[in-house]
Amino acid sequence: MHPDEFRRHAHAAVDWMADYLRDVGALPITPAVSPGDIRRQIPETPPLDAEPFDALLDDFRQVIVPGMTHWNHPGWFAYFPCNNSPPSILAEMLTATLGAQGMSWATSPAATELEQVVMDWLRQMLALPPDFVGVIQDTASTATLVALLTARERATGGRSGAEGLAAADAPLAVYASREAHSSVDKGVKLAGYGLDRLRHIDTDERYAMRPDALAAALERDRAAGIRPACVVATVGTTSSTAIDPLRPIAELCRRAGVWLHVDAAYAGAAAIVPELRTLFDGMETADSIVFNPHKWLLTNFDCTAYFVRDPSALLSTFQATPEYLRTAYDADVVNYRDWGIQLGRRFRALKLWFVIRSYGVEGLRALVRRHVALAQELAGWIAADPEYELLAPAPFGLVCFRWRPPGRSEQELDALNARLLAAVNAGGERFLTHTRLGGTYTIRLVVGQRETGREHVRAAWDAVREAAGGLQASR
Ligand SMILES: *Cc1c(COP(=O)(O)O)cnc(C)c1O
Repeated sequence: MHPDEFRRHAHAAVDWMADYLRDVGALPITPAVSPGDIRRQIPETPPLDAEPFDALLDDFRQVIVPGMTHWNHPGWFAYFPCNNSPPSILAEMLTATLGAQGMSWATSPAATELEQVVMDWLRQMLALPPDFVGVIQDTASTATLVALLTARERATGGRSGAEGLAAADAPLAVYASREAHSSVDKGVKLAGYGLDRLRHIDTDERYAMRPDALAAALERDRAAGIRPACVVATVGTTSSTAIDPLRPIAELCRRAGVWLHVDAAYAGAAAIVPELRTLFDGMETADSIVFNPHKWLLTNFDCTAYFVRDPSALLSTFQATPEYLRTAYDADVVNYRDWGIQLGRRFRALKLWFVIRSYGVEGLRALVRRHVALAQELAGWIAADPEYELLAPAPFGLVCFRWRPPGRSEQELDALNARLLAAVNAGGERFLTHTRLGGTYTIRLVVGQRETGREHVRAAWDAVREAAGGLQASR
């Protein structure tokens, strides 16, 4: 593609992007497709001859976009958000244009140094003490695996890297609440602890880890000759945004010499708001913390912030320097390839830099405050309606609830709420998902998309009650 042609196609693509960002709210939020519908429209064999770019853009518009779920639709209330924003999108275009590798300082000095600076900006935004240093990972799942690998190395006195798990003179165990994210289970499997050595600690009536149950599990293992290696505490669990009590958990970890990893993948963004920081009390006592700017902080997937207090623990776990990667600067610089699993690294700091500068810390705080206030307003409407009930506290942007018309068994209520959710989603104007809390079918509504306003939340609540009325009438 000649540079002049590139310019023309890029302008056309950017025009499409601007229209999309303006109009996405009018698209059906989930596509009306069945498995295989998209594949069938795409040739099974690659083209032998070059095709014009206009044809590619046409197919993108006509085949791909109608088959997409629109995560950046203002009716997005599902899972957790996966926000982007105009400055982040532009940064991704520039990153793609540079096409650089950030594996070492020398391979892209500005990428490494900007990552150091913006991760320290984020640290300050979260009010973490200065001894925390950050690195950008691809996902929270990877960051949690990194924490589990580092904890394994520490629990074996730095020997598991060389000797494998045979270095452990006792079996190692990991602790997380029953409500912890499935990435903990995955990481425990991958890091070689074995799922049988993952202790799912009981939770209280708010779905938060019970420190007394953790203490008992640690004691039981110690008595049985099993060595506790890592506790994963969650601030903002995926099902209900429960908050594990970090201070007593940290004290147990300190006494037992156990690595404390805090998973705040979704909720961490709220720690930039001073009046919400009490929800993170004790986070500064962790050995490592993960949170995803790619969820709530307007930065395109992927961008996971991973903070550690002792980067030497990362180096001793991950450092590998073959001759072909040695440079003259290695003694003086950070080589981020030694801070995690990947060698090759994308230049992800640029989009975070653009986002923080474009909105300012106050602009980002205002966004989080707005979403939390809307979630609280919705929780108020639900609490005030005798036919509905809240199923968990709503400290952030997630509201967990169900419809509870009188005279139904628990089993009937579960089935009824599943039908209610399907009916609400069928309209194509909004998308909500579900979970189970204490066995109970629970509708989750997360306020967190950049453009979601009061009118969208109000319309969603109206749609819930209208759909319930429809189900009631059809009985
Ligand atoms: C979303 C989430 C994760 C996983 O995030 P990825 O970045 O997709 O790996 C982990 N933990 C919690 C609590 C989450 O909400």
